[in-house]
Amino acid sequence: MKKHNFSAGPCILPKEVMQKASEAVLELDGIGLSLIEISHRSKEFVAIMEKARSLALELLELEGKGYQALFLQGGASMQFLMTAFNLLEKKAGYINTGTWSQKAIKEARLLGEIVEVASSQEQNFNHIPKGYKVPKDLDYLHLTSNNTIYGTQIKEFPETDVPLVCDMSSDIFSRQLDFSKFDLIYAGAQKNMGPAGTTLVVVKEDILGRVSRKIPSMLDYKVHVSKESMFNTPPVFAVYVSMLTLQWLKDLGGIAAIEEINERKANLIYSEIELNPVFSGIAAKEDRSIMNATFNITDDELKDEFDAMCKEAGISGINGHRSVGGYRASMYNALPIESVGVLVDIMSELEKKG
Ligand SMILES: *Cc1c(COP(=O)(O)O)cnc(C)c1O
Repeated sequence: MKKHNFSAGPCILPKEVMQKASEAVLELDGIGLSLIEISHRSKEFVAIMEKARSLALELLELEGKGYQALFLQGGASMQFLMTAFNLLEKKAGYINTGTWSQKAIKEARLLGEIVEVASSQEQNFNHIPKGYKVPKDLDYLHLTSNNTIYGTQIKEFPETDVPLVCDMSSDIFSRQLDFSKFDLIYAGAQKNMGPAGTTLVVVKEDILGRVSRKIPSMLDYKVHVSKESMFNTPPVFAVYVSMLTLQWLKDLGGIAAIEEINERKANLIYSEIELNPVFSGIAAKEDRSIMNATFNITDDELKDEFDAMCKEAGISGINGHRSVGGYRASMYNALPIESVGVLVDIMSELEKKG
């Protein structure tokens, strides 16, 4: 039965990427060996790593602008610590927009003074704080571009001279931004790029080397940059699949092309949520994410029926995060618009029944 995969992460990847990745596990490009049994120093894998790194910079339009792309391990969660280790000398600012921001704050506090510049915690993170002033004396300001759990997304980033660090785990490569505004971007692969196991870090080289602390090698971006993202054995399979997904995106027309599709998917579900009295949106309208749509069912008596209809139609992964409840439809790059159509049809059918 065909499934419609709305999982928040790990999540859906393009079919042809899965196909190619599974072939490479058996044999990589006719070399008689599997992708996962060759040396990471082989010319074949070195070329894969180079391709993945250059595709990332190319898609973000950061080539030749002093940035380096790295494929590291430890998830986005490791970046909560690593960003602070490399960039925090005295004081850093954080915008608290949810669970992931809070976790980033917790790690950074181990290393310096942290100022919560703005927060939407009092409203259970249903919106993005705006109109705040960024103190000038910060080493950096940390933001979370898309709040996977609450379904909110930053549409406008603050104008400031303070270096910007951004967790883009759940919306990287999904919409056009001026990525050169950011000094460091990180994203766990498993939301919009590949399988779990690697994290993309895009860092402007000239912000490195400014802190006085000693940095352990594995946590030091400069070490990873100097070793071309091969300081130790990289997660070869996750890097390969990420490379294939980035190539898929490039062939499709890049971020501009996928953004258009993502906007159409988001419009489809949000207009249904707005028009259909059986459902109500959770996130503030102006801050709604084009990746994760969160909503409640207004009539609890219809919940079992809705769940059964979704199951029947092959819809998978739309339960809300336990801290928010309700539903969450994650519509990452590889989710076809047809899948959103199937969900929306069920929602409107339920209204007729209700
Ligand atoms: C999923 C997610 C994380 C955590 O990623 P891990 O790779 O599991 O550490 C961090 N930030 C955001 C915004 C996420 O969506």
